[in-house]
Amino acid sequence: MATCTGDTKTLGPITLCTEAGARPWTPTVRQLRLMSRLVTSPVSIRIVHRRDVGRFWPASVPVSAGPYAFRAFTRRNRIVAFVDATETQASLAWLLLHELAHTLVNSDTALLRRFRSQPKPPGYPVSDDQHAAWPEEKFANDFADRCAASLGVSAGLDRHWWRARVARRDLL
Ligand SMILES: [Zn+2]
Repeated sequence: MATCTGDTKTLGPITLCTEAGARPWTPTVRQLRLMSRLVTSPVSIRIVHRRDVGRFWPASVPVSAGPYAFRAFTRRNRIVAFVDATETQASLAWLLLHELAHTLVNSDTALLRRFRSQPKPPGYPVSDDQHAAWPEEKFANDFADRCAASLGVSAGLDRHWWRARVARRDLL
């Protein structure tokens, strides 16, 4: 992946890159410090404005799904999250907790065995309901909900919450 062209910040095991235009959404130092206590191995987080989503498109999602098919993706210990008016500073913090849960699975053999043995539903990349039904997604949502209050954000800022925001064309 291309190197960070924005601001970088390192707190414990987390290295954060905030690309141009994404600064209003980026986590506070306090939020980052709390996130850094939740992980033990190095994690890189990149916050990208959604207008640049094409530069970071994940191979697992068909282009036909459209730019609002996903909020973020995680590969091994690398998180890329996209922001625009459909996200708030709080919802991005919640989303990063969700993605950190995926990195925890990726770095833990027992969790990997538990979750990756379960096949993804066929509509996983494009259907919100099928996406949320995969056990690893439930684990990541529960993890984010349980940690949200410590970061000063609400629980429940999940894919369904976001989809309602995407449907509000006045935000776009
Ligand atoms: Zn997820």
